[in-house]
Amino acid sequence: MTNAERPASRGRILLAEDDADAAHFVARVLAGRAGFEVVHEADPAAALRRAATEHWDAVLTDVEMPGMTGIELLESLRREAPSLPVAVITAHVSVDNALGALRGRADDFLEKPLHPDQLIASVTALVDRRRAARQLVLAVGAHPDDVEIGAAGALAAHRALGHDIAILTLSRGARGGADHRRAAEAQEAARILGATLYLDDLEDTRISEGDPTISAVSRVIGAVRPAVVYTHSIHDVHQDHRNTHRAVMVAAREIGRVFCFQSPSATVDFRPARYVSIDAQLQAKLAAIDAFASQVEVRAYLEPDLIEATARYWSRFAEGRYAEAFEVIRDRGATPVPGAPPAAAVTHSQAEEAAHAIG
Ligand SMILES: [Zn+2]
Repeated sequence: MTNAERPASRGRILLAEDDADAAHFVARVLAGRAGFEVVHEADPAAALRRAATEHWDAVLTDVEMPGMTGIELLESLRREAPSLPVAVITAHVSVDNALGALRGRADDFLEKPLHPDQLIASVTALVDRRRAARQLVLAVGAHPDDVEIGAAGALAAHRALGHDIAILTLSRGARGGADHRRAAEAQEAARILGATLYLDDLEDTRISEGDPTISAVSRVIGAVRPAVVYTHSIHDVHQDHRNTHRAVMVAAREIGRVFCFQSPSATVDFRPARYVSIDAQLQAKLAAIDAFASQVEVRAYLEPDLIEATARYWSRFAEGRYAEAFEVIRDRGATPVPGAPPAAAVTHSQAEEAAHAIG
């Protein structure tokens, strides 16, 4: 099994600091003494861009920098990456007027001159808290592109909520094309969605509902420890999809939130009860599917207009123009998930329709 998991470090820290000496000191302490990976950006705008687009465990920012203050950076970070812990480095904790505005928004304050032990203790606490609070979402598909077709929009919406996404693809789809090429395509699609890819090597068209499928899914659930799982619906004419569904139901029996996505091979018995608006995610979904170039050439179900039309259709049960639909196996737990419960929305739009018809 290959996977794209990051190499183990005690945590990945983004340091926004315009003072080269201070940055060097922080990096030396955190990387050299405590084993953190420290990435330094002197320009706060660049730091903000990277904070929003890469995986981090914590941000350390100086309070005074040219172009953007640490306070402005903090405000922007709270919008772009709400769950990312931020510690503010300041010259004078006691007299800095700006601190009033920061209280309650920054996760910690560090006063210059920085003391190595304090610095390590603070960053360790932030990273531990972040890791304990991380919301992990796992999507399991039988073949490359199954997860992208069924749930790429919802996964991107989870990502926008600050959740970490993992995709487990059980087979490399050798029946559908050169398997190394499809593996590279799966990797690219995962990159587009900001997901970690676990690519297993079960035999295409012969995925079983028992072992080794259950073990393969259980291994990844053990590694990822997700709060939310997406997989195939049982209402599907493809036996690999049905067997993947059955294996995931066993392996994910302890998971509080389990949803089933629609495949092009779904039957008319696919009966969703959760709808996720994907207006802001449709382009990412199309791009992820387009990554499967070797298949797009030969498989009509991957054509963008069909993907778009399907999402357009499901939007009648959701807000917006495009949506994905999910059957609900279980929906309990504290993790927020994108998408409103459908009942009220349906009633509302039906009422509107009726009013329209009368008026
Ligand atoms: Zn499939």
